[in-house]
Amino acid sequence: MTLLQYADETTRQLVLPKLYSGEWSATMCLTEAHAGTDLGIMRTSAQPQPDGSYLISGSKIFITAGEHDLTDNILHLVLAKLPDAPAGSRGISLFLVPKFLYDANGNKTATRNQLQCGSVEHKMGIHGSATCVMNFDGATGYLLGEANKGLAAMFTMMNYERLAMGSQGVGAAERAYQNALAYAKDRLQGRVAGKDANKAEPIIGHPDVQRMLMTVKAMTEAGRSFAIYVGHRLDQAKFANDADALAVASLLTPITKAFLTDRGFESCVMAQQVFGGHGYIREWGMEQWVRDVRIAQIYEGTNGIQALDFAARKLFADNGKAIQLLLAEIASQLNAHPNAQLAALLNDYQQLLTRLAQQPAQLGEFLAAHACDLLDLTGYLLYGYVWNKTLAALPACDEGEQFIASKQQTAAFFFDRLMPKAQGYLQILNKAPTVLDTALF
Ligand SMILES: Cc1cc2nc3c(=O)[nH]c(=O)nc-3n(C[C@H](O)[C@H](O)[C@H](O)COP(=O)(O)OP(=O)(O)OC[C@H]3O[C@@H](n4cnc5c(N)ncnc54)[C@H](O)[C@@H]3O)c2cc1C
Repeated sequence: MTLLQYADETTRQLVLPKLYSGEWSATMCLTEAHAGTDLGIMRTSAQPQPDGSYLISGSKIFITAGEHDLTDNILHLVLAKLPDAPAGSRGISLFLVPKFLYDANGNKTATRNQLQCGSVEHKMGIHGSATCVMNFDGATGYLLGEANKGLAAMFTMMNYERLAMGSQGVGAAERAYQNALAYAKDRLQGRVAGKDANKAEPIIGHPDVQRMLMTVKAMTEAGRSFAIYVGHRLDQAKFANDADALAVASLLTPITKAFLTDRGFESCVMAQQVFGGHGYIREWGMEQWVRDVRIAQIYEGTNGIQALDFAARKLFADNGKAIQLLLAEIASQLNAHPNAQLAALLNDYQQLLTRLAQQPAQLGEFLAAHACDLLDLTGYLLYGYVWNKTLAALPACDEGEQFIASKQQTAAFFFDRLMPKAQGYLQILNKAPTVLDTALF
């Protein structure tokens, strides 16, 4: 996506077919040892050459698929600084740096560019993905887009990556749920009220196991509906040039990244818990879901940074236009399909926003401390919205009685046993922030 938007026509013609076909692959090289979240202090440099190319020098760490022999060539998209670049994130440019240089026909040449993988990280999970230190020692690179506007160009891809992370959280949780459900129907342990007192029963008969399974199911199905809702908004923005849809999709991007991956991780842990000790043992595969989904909370910007993007940058931007569009949409859906619990939460949420907007002097400090609480509260509100939309759609559903009954039960579980957790966030957010002294930590 970044190359499509920022590379010149010749480069697009040469490299995109190879990327689309999978013949070549690509990386995104942002992170350096001392510059992770704070990319403005990166040191990788780009020296202009007489032929219009640049020599890229510096060391990047944690580069996904930085080196491997799965594809013929690897195109590195590298963030670096030009000699006269302004300080901070306004002085970052983006370069295309191929592993092997290619000729005018786009064919890989035998000339290896001056870059190397320094080492491969040993990680908690995602062992199928090589996470590399990449050293660039005067490697030939080509500027993509305008000088000093590289971060915005990288974000063309990053915003979609962040949305994809949310779906990854939902996907991992769904698979963990399916495994846990099958196990809970099979594993015989303990007596169940009303059944044979001398016989062990499947653990799905225990209310606490039901709680775990239903929690994962309700949050995962809401997560999937929510991801589809955001996808719909993106389609409206892209194909119908709908500016309101774009504003809402932009507001929802950090929520999709953080809320869906946080809930995805919690769901995998809860599904693992259904297995008891067997969940901790490698052969059942559950510990792998826990390990693998964990990274989704960290990369593409940590979930704490997503929360700040949501609360401190986007929520009150443009007089809160995007959130008000969204809240009006929920209110209008509630008019057509009343739901007392969702209506009450919507009202509390609106009051909270009004109160916060009236205190602009302390707002920045408050949001810095409470961004995650605010993001989670918003997540519960939006999951309530998508569950209410699901309930509203059921009369027209032709998937059969069992499917409909299952949706109704899961929605009821969400509204009765999960959405009330939002009240805890409201209590926290309706207080002044606790002042913390780091010397006392
Ligand atoms: C397996 C893996 C693959 C990766 N793949 C890539 C890749 O392909 N390309 C790439 O460029 N990078 C990649 N990364 C890097 C990843 O994006 C960073 O690790 C991540 O953005 C966080 O940066 P950091 O690790 O330096 O943490 P830091 O920036 O040091 O953050 C540490 C903690 O401080 C918090 N924090 C930092 N700054 C602030 C702030 N201003 N306000 C509030 N809290 C703050 C963070 O939320 C975090 O909790 C990968 C990382 C891993 C582990």
